[in-house]
Amino acid sequence: MEEVRLCSLCPRACLVDRRRERGACGCGETLRVARAAPHFWEEPCLSGKNGSGTVFFSGCNLRCIFCQNRPISSGYEGLDISVERLSEIFLELQSAGVHNINLVTPTPWADKIKAALNRAWKNGLFLPVIYNSGGYERVETLRALRGDISIYLPDFKYMDEALAERLSGAADYPEQAKRALAEMMEQRGRAVFDRDGMMTRGVLVRHLVLPGHSDDSVKFLDYLRAEYRDDIWVSIMNQYTPMPGMKGELANRLSVEEYRAVTDYALSIGFKNGFFQEGEAAAESFVPEWNGLGVLSPRQSGA
Ligand code: SF4
Repeated sequence: MEEVRLCSLCPRACLVDRRRERGACGCGETLRVARAAPHFWEEPCLSGKNGSGTVFFSGCNLRCIFCQNRPISSGYEGLDISVERLSEIFLELQSAGVHNINLVTPTPWADKIKAALNRAWKNGLFLPVIYNSGGYERVETLRALRGDISIYLPDFKYMDEALAERLSGAADYPEQAKRALAEMMEQRGRAVFDRDGMMTRGVLVRHLVLPGHSDDSVKFLDYLRAEYRDDIWVSIMNQYTPMPGMKGELANRLSVEEYRAVTDYALSIGFKNGFFQEGEAAAESFVPEWNGLGVLSPRQSGA
């Protein structure tokens, strides 16, 4: 992958020189990382007993109006680090015993991450690498990462273009996310697990059910099932938390009934591979630490 000059790493294609100005993602030239630590609240097949080695990158190429992580997604919070330091962080996480390296919001830094991974592999990195993104990806950027990423963990936020435009300023999100998912499946395909049940390769797609928009969730599930059948894993999330200033339907939490209707629908159309909340019946739980607000208690559907 060529060094960034006029940035087109994501579908925004800002074509800015990030040495001189920031793009829509809020990212400049120097790598910026908000947190790097073992993380125990991803899906169980990613966190396992020892945690997922998460690196939270500052900045985001989606600026969702309901973002629960604004200080980091804006690029405000974080430390500037070098590519060399990032490669050391990967190795330090590996030494801490984590199951994988989990790159959170990696897209605006894809070129530098690739360089850091190459350096870390030369120095002994052997863990699976997870690309944990908002799903708004440029296929060419993903192609440049072919062979580097073991597990793709994208969001799939919207099927409706108007909704994507209103909430994330990205009317082309559905089209871009579909193309990106196809590329991810092409690269990694059907999921593989080790004897401890840890995912070592594959694609797990996350979908946050938004209050008042379960119809869009149903359309997403129909698309995913028709396109990928049992080859893909899905995580249906209910952790939406209204931030101050949210209006209309986004001022509310997701109701239990609305969430249940979506998960029941997923089961009714045949999904077997995935995670969703089932109240107190859930045996395990994960709390996305970066917002500290929602609690999602997944269980493997059909388990
Ligand atoms: S990564 Fe950032 S600067 Fe580059 S195209 Fe996307 S939003 Fe623009």
